[in-house]
Amino acid sequence: MDWKKLSTTKINKVYCGLFLTRCYLCNASCQSTLCKHCEAGFVSNKHHCQRCKRPMTNQKDTICLHCTLFPPPYKACIAPFRFEGITKTLIHHIKFHQGNHYIRPLTYLLSQHLHQHYENRAWPEQLIYIPSHPKRIKERGFCQTRTMSAQLIKQLRQTLGDHSPTLAVPNPLSKIQHSQAQHSLSRTHRLDAPQSVYSVQGRVAKHVALFDDVMTTGSTIENATRLLQQAGAEQVDVWVIARTADKQD
Ligand SMILES: [Zn+2]
Ligand SMILES: [Zn+2]
Repeated sequence: MDWKKLSTTKINKVYCGLFLTRCYLCNASCQSTLCKHCEAGFVSNKHHCQRCKRPMTNQKDTICLHCTLFPPPYKACIAPFRFEGITKTLIHHIKFHQGNHYIRPLTYLLSQHLHQHYENRAWPEQLIYIPSHPKRIKERGFCQTRTMSAQLIKQLRQTLGDHSPTLAVPNPLSKIQHSQAQHSLSRTHRLDAPQSVYSVQGRVAKHVALFDDVMTTGSTIENATRLLQQAGAEQVDVWVIARTADKQD
């Protein structure tokens, strides 16, 4: 076999066929990153608002009240899972228990959904992530959204080659104000949080993917989207692994 004549996609297929024969979570024999049994354990964000992917119980509504009153500034939102069950456990382990090895199955699943979404659409040119504050990065020893973004781009490059979005280095978005963790704030406080928590520096592409691991109320994503638009982005697509349901508070 002449390896030089093979495309990146074909080389990847051969590589996966040779070496990727175990499920990353349960070690069962399979031909993918996750076996069907483990993949089925992730709670799909099936019924959701068409704009912001907020989980909805009333299946008749296609757009949530929030998006009806305040249409979000981003073009698309890809949020395949709900922040519960195995997804919540894995993200919790990554954040608080050095579970970096769980990043790969999560970004693998997100990449599968991205391929579906962009099948007949143009991929963004650049990936920008919502970063943690430097103080929190120091406490944890790493920025989980940065590590996740790097892994996601690595996986996308294996299938898209040179058509893959590139990871902006350094990340143009930085957190300049240390805010209380969102999950410990009530919804009212989250919505009241100041908008100048992030700042943008450096080149921003015209079509950007904005990545975060979990989307809660959407206010962080919306604020960051507006900042990227002010810096020159014409289209912002939101990529998140999981979406939370609204709390009744
Ligand atoms: Zn498995
Ligand atoms: Zn909505």
